[in-house]
Amino acid sequence: MKSFIAANWKMNKTVTETREFLSAFIPAVRDAVDVDIVVAPPFTALASAGELIRDTNVQLAAQDMFWEEKGAFTGEISSAMLLEAGCRHVIIGHSERRQYFLEDDAVINKKLKAAGKAGLGLIFCVGETLGEREANRTFDVIRREIEFGLEGIGAGNLVVAYEPVWAIGTGKTATPEQAQEVHAFIRETLRKLYGNSADSIRILYGGSVTPESIDRLMACRDVNGGLVGGASLNPESFSKIVCFKKAIKET
Ligand code: PEP
Repeated sequence: MKSFIAANWKMNKTVTETREFLSAFIPAVRDAVDVDIVVAPPFTALASAGELIRDTNVQLAAQDMFWEEKGAFTGEISSAMLLEAGCRHVIIGHSERRQYFLEDDAVINKKLKAAGKAGLGLIFCVGETLGEREANRTFDVIRREIEFGLEGIGAGNLVVAYEPVWAIGTGKTATPEQAQEVHAFIRETLRKLYGNSADSIRILYGGSVTPESIDRLMACRDVNGGLVGGASLNPESFSKIVCFKKAIKET
């Protein structure tokens, strides 16, 4: 299965900084093979990033979108706006959207439906908080997020990102064993929804991924890629992650 490694820049980088990043990053990953390389800058930098990545092996994603096509929704961004800027994918349901902007499973489902209908690839995020993990509720939370979030969504354009909230931006990467355990559970849950097509859905790990941790994570059987925050802000460290060392799947 082709790997999928995506950068989530969150609220970082101006247009100028985006240009600087891409002029160093694009040549650094030019020879990377068998990996979809995706960068998600903030909305304001999408259009210029879209021009810079044209005819390269780097793809563009947005970090969010609204489900309506147009109208009186001050501050929101539609799928058509993203497509015109050159986006092929959109991240939906990131834990920061759930936590700070109160997005629940129903809102996330509406966004996924609208993005899928527009032909955007879906990078759908799920993950438990530390409290939920400590209360042994990890699987219940993930099952609920998947079942409600993906209601009515096809498997075709779907990538799922497992991002334990306790690992995001904390420097505490999940161990390969912890990641594989949840990824296997996600695969099983997807199989209930999609049958054998679940085997071709890429499941990404996200949460303090670094150039040092990527190889062992990618060696896990059900880890098919990464969603990277902090370590994706520097072209050198993100290109190292994209060019991770491929090993035989082990765990
Ligand atoms: C993220 O926000 O998607 C993420 C994984 O961030 P970080 O790599 O900084 O933990």
